[in-house]
Amino acid sequence: MALISCPECQKEGISDQALTCPHCGVPIAMKSPSRLVSTALKRVGIPLLLAALGFMLDNPSDRSESDEI
Ligand SMILES: [Zn+2]
Repeated sequence: MALISCPECQKEGISDQALTCPHCGVPIAMKSPSRLVSTALKRVGIPLLLAALGFMLDNPSDRSESDEI
């Protein structure tokens, strides 16, 4: 856990886990998770997408669906 300063009111000592600034109420946690998600997406997103595509191509879902019905 790190202490950051508020991007809005510039007050320091706010937990980076805090959802909002306790001083002015501006959303804090909105910023870092979205950056984390985009970083994670860049790292695993494309290989994951390719893997999912390959999986879908290897296993046509319409065949198994018609078998069940
Ligand atoms: Zn603030």
